[in-house]
Amino acid sequence: MAIFRRSALERFSTGKGERFFYDPRPISQLFGENVFDMAKMEHYLTPESFAALQSNIANGGKIDREQAEQIAEGMKRWALEKEATHYTHWFHPLTDATAEKHEAFVEFNGKGVVEHFCGEALVRQEPDASSLPSGGLRNTFEARGYSTWDPSSPAFIIDGTLFIPSLFVSYTGDSLDMKTPHLRSLDCVEKGALKLAKLFDPEVESCSVMLGIEQEYFVVDEALYRARPDLMLCNRTVVGKMAAKEQQLEDHYFGVIPSKVMAFMKDFESEAYKLGVLLKTRHNEVAPNQFEFAPFYEKANLAIDHNLMMMILMRKIAKRHKLKVIFHEKPFAGVNGSGKHCNWSILTQKGNNLFSPGESFEDNLRFLSFFSAVVRGLYQHNHLLMAGCASLANSFRLGGGEAPPAMGSLFIGKRLTQVIDSIGSGNFFKKMVGNEKSGLKLSDKSLEILIDNADRNRTAPFAFTGNRFEFRAVGSSLNPSFVLSILNSAVAQQITRFGTIVDEAMERGVERDKALLETIALFIEEARPLLFEGNCYSKEWATEAASRGLRSINNSPEAFKALIEEGSVKLFGESGVLNFKELEARYLQLNETYTKKIEIEAKVLIDLATNHVIPAAVKYQNRLIENVRGLRELYGEQEGSSLSHYQSDSLKKISNAIQSIGTGVKAASKIVGRGVESSSLSKKGELYFKDLLPLLASIRESVDTLEMLIDDQLWPLPKYRELLFWR
Ligand code: ADP
Ligand code: MG
Repeated sequence: MAIFRRSALERFSTGKGERFFYDPRPISQLFGENVFDMAKMEHYLTPESFAALQSNIANGGKIDREQAEQIAEGMKRWALEKEATHYTHWFHPLTDATAEKHEAFVEFNGKGVVEHFCGEALVRQEPDASSLPSGGLRNTFEARGYSTWDPSSPAFIIDGTLFIPSLFVSYTGDSLDMKTPHLRSLDCVEKGALKLAKLFDPEVESCSVMLGIEQEYFVVDEALYRARPDLMLCNRTVVGKMAAKEQQLEDHYFGVIPSKVMAFMKDFESEAYKLGVLLKTRHNEVAPNQFEFAPFYEKANLAIDHNLMMMILMRKIAKRHKLKVIFHEKPFAGVNGSGKHCNWSILTQKGNNLFSPGESFEDNLRFLSFFSAVVRGLYQHNHLLMAGCASLANSFRLGGGEAPPAMGSLFIGKRLTQVIDSIGSGNFFKKMVGNEKSGLKLSDKSLEILIDNADRNRTAPFAFTGNRFEFRAVGSSLNPSFVLSILNSAVAQQITRFGTIVDEAMERGVERDKALLETIALFIEEARPLLFEGNCYSKEWATEAASRGLRSINNSPEAFKALIEEGSVKLFGESGVLNFKELEARYLQLNETYTKKIEIEAKVLIDLATNHVIPAAVKYQNRLIENVRGLRELYGEQEGSSLSHYQSDSLKKISNAIQSIGTGVKAASKIVGRGVESSSLSKKGELYFKDLLPLLASIRESVDTLEMLIDDQLWPLPKYRELLFWR
């Protein structure tokens, strides 16, 4: 057996499920101990600086120089007590990773070295970071990049470094990151929601978007991972025949968590609690070796920071367990891929969920107003929303026969469909206002049932699940900020339109309830093509969706264009979330990442096929040749031939596969060469999508054919059964 695979297989079987971060304290005692949270702020800060920080977090109040100095001093004191030696601004560049540049808390003071951290360093840094992708925003020399502190997300300590959540912007104020537009979009949708919510309850003072992010991931043994260059360089297997057993028995889903993974999860969870992340659920997902965790929902900005922190933490802790966590959307062909389901709702400062139906007419009128505004937003921008989740990795999942399909649609369940249908029947107003004896009334207590809606449709990219929207199309490796900025902008736009229409009607003398009900009906009617309760993976739906005017995003470079279409430019301009320059930068960056990733995958596949697989295949062929020759020598030409029939047949099949790999590799290299010379990124993307990806798929097919033909002992790469079925 090839040396790497053999030694990897020998090593992985010894894992026992040992704990490395065991902490006997109950969760409530360790929770948040590595976060500079409110309680610690109050303890370590002066009363004035604490008050300034609180007001900044609540409503963006100003923090002056002196206060920043005091906050930095308090933060430093806490961090040093926690034995931190460094600090870093932590920001989210236009990659899906996070960025950090550590600085030591030290300075010369003339006599010697002292620990030092000042307000200036807390508030703003110039990390240069000029090699991070900017989509062309930093091509001119004056376009320096600055990171600025985001006080609404508390600082935390990982590995002795104080992490300060930050934004990343250019000298001209253009955002170079994912967080800035997301914060702008939250501001926009929360203000819009507040205005509409006040129509129902004048005591509402503020609204907050809440997010609960479910994270799916795979876990593989580290030694096996290291024997797979494709996993190491692409985070997915670019070759590999699915094992006889995959997920058909559905025995992994919700099954017993393997003890080695359990030990990792427990270690990861106790460190997560210390970082103030309230992990709530853990379980086995559908695919073998696939898992999920979900924290309790919280304010959107924090929820995303926490999600990205968890991705860092999991990778670090997995290392101690000799495991690798894989966040790729589709690491293994033939079993389910991974998503990052974003559960989204809006709460008032009183804790009322604007998407919860209630007991009273008023509650349900409010619920339907907000619900219809979101549904219309999802409908109007469904293509942009789906395009916002497009990536090379997600394209193996999104357009495929599993996970959310390529077309946007919304599942709302039986009960709500009845309500919506009554809108279409024309008797809506009478029924809803309750003038009619039969039918649904808006004061109907049964609307409450929606809250406990267990009705699920796992095939829909969006679902309304009783009191929140679940955006299921988002990819597992993605920083969800960008796509959620689209969602927030779309909702903000429609909430504002909703309010304007109602206001105008009321100004014309229409009674408030009637104006609201009419607008709800108008919005729902318009968004109706988005509503679908059936199987979104079926062929019928693809046809039906097209006839309803819902566009597919199977082709990522084509989907990216949605970003710079007129409607999108207007949407982002209206909300102030992204100006055209910023939008275009993201468009370019998405295309660039897409094409670069395909180039990497092509090179890895070519290397694997040429330098790993073909040599093994030739070795086995030689053995077969020797065997055939021997049989003929022993039994004579005729009998020898008939006795080596199978071997000769295998030889031919192996030769054919090798030849088609050879031809494929040559053609693929040529296309990459043409791509490199291509004048535009989007043209290059199209070329790769149309010509290169199918070619790579056909090379893979030949490699996978060889995997089934040649001696298992000679096969150089850990097989799917080994990667996915260890316990
Ligand atoms: P399921 O897999 O059944 O959808 P999970 O328990 O895995 O459910 O995840 C549900 C997620 O939704 C959790 O993160 C949870 O905190 C979150 N959630 C629940 N209610 C809300 C809400 N009103 N707004 C936003 N997120 C919510
Ligand atoms: Mg879940």
